[in-house]
Amino acid sequence: ASTASLALALTACGQNSEGGGEEKNDGAANATIGIAMPTKSSERWISDGANVVKELKGKGYETKLVYGEDDPDQQVSQIENMITQGVDALIVAAIDNKSLNNVLQQAKEADIPVISYDRLILGTENVDYYASFDNEKVGELQGTYIVDKLGLGDGKKGPFSIELFAGSNDDNNTKYFFQGAMNVLKPFVDKGELVVRSKQTALNQVTTLRWDGGTAQKRMDDLLTSSYRSTRVDAVLSPYDGISVGILSALKSDGYGTKAKPMPVVTGQDAELASVKSIIAGEQTQTVYKDLRKLAEVASNMVDAALNDKKPEVNDTKSYDNGVKVVPAFLLQPVSVDKTNYKEALVDDGYYTENDLK
Ligand code: BGC
Repeated sequence: ASTASLALALTACGQNSEGGGEEKNDGAANATIGIAMPTKSSERWISDGANVVKELKGKGYETKLVYGEDDPDQQVSQIENMITQGVDALIVAAIDNKSLNNVLQQAKEADIPVISYDRLILGTENVDYYASFDNEKVGELQGTYIVDKLGLGDGKKGPFSIELFAGSNDDNNTKYFFQGAMNVLKPFVDKGELVVRSKQTALNQVTTLRWDGGTAQKRMDDLLTSSYRSTRVDAVLSPYDGISVGILSALKSDGYGTKAKPMPVVTGQDAELASVKSIIAGEQTQTVYKDLRKLAEVASNMVDAALNDKKPEVNDTKSYDNGVKVVPAFLLQPVSVDKTNYKEALVDDGYYTENDLK
C-alpha cells in the first residue's frame, strides 16, 4: 500500500509529471536531484554541497541541497522529505552509515537511484553507486608521512613516541583511514621504533565521535597528562584537519611549539583553509588533499548516467562491500600536502589562490 500511495504522491508533485510523461528518470529535463550532506560545521562539506549543485545545474538539473547538522535522525527525515517531494535521484553523504536502510527502501520503491557520496552506506542493497577517494590510501599517506618525517626507515631507529586518533565510529571511512595508516605504522610499533605510551592502539580506543575537534582536544589533554609528563610526544596520527586543530590546541596549552619543546608531527585530511595556513605557519605538519571538485563531477556524472539509462563510469568493483553487496565505485586519488608542496598541489591546481592562504 505504501508503494502505491508513494507513487501517487510522486505523480502529484514529481517534476516529471509535467508534460504528461509517464516515465520518471528521463534525463535532465525537469529532473530534480536531492543532495543530503552531513554538516556545515566543516568547510569541506560546504564546498561539496556547492560543487555538486554547480555540476548538476551545469547539466540542466534542478537541485535540493540539505545539511543534517551531524544528527542521523534529522538526515533520515530530510531524505524522506525529498522523496515525498519527488526528487528523481539522491546523492547522500551519510552521517551514520547504518541508519539509512529504511529511508533508502522508500527511495527504491519510488525508483530513485542513490549515489553514496564519499562515505559508503552500509547494510542495504539500495545504494547504486559509490563516489569517493581511495580511503585506505589516505591513511597510508598519513602513516608514510609520519615515518618519513621522523626519519624512520632512513637510518633513524627511534624510539619515537606517537599517539593515534581515528574518525567517527559510525563513518565507514574511519576504518579504512586507520587501517591504511596502521599498515605503515604497525611494523615500526612492533619493532619498538614507534612507541604508543598510552597503549591505546585499537581502533575502538582511538575513535572521535562525529569527528569533533573538541572531543579530540580533550582526549589529547588527557593523554599528555597521563603519559607525557616526563617525555615528549613526537608524532600524532590525526585523520582529519578539524581533529588536528583540537590536538594542536591541547599541545599548545601544554607548552609545545618552542625550540625546547617542538611541535610533534601532526597529520590531517581535507586541506581545509585554516589547516593549510597552520601548515604554512609551521604548526600542523601535513594534510591530505582530496580534490572535491572532481568528486562532485564524478557523483554528478553517475546521477546523469543513471537517469539516462547509461552505465556510470566506475573504476573499482571489488573494494567496497557494504555487507549486502559490493557497491561499484569510482575512487579518486588523494595527495599528501605539507609546507614543501602546498603551492604546487593547491595553488597551481586552482583549489586555493595565493591570497586565500595569506
Ligand atoms: C571524509 C573526510 C572528512 C571526515 C570528517 C570523512 O568521511 O572522507 O574527508 O575529513 O569525514 O568530515
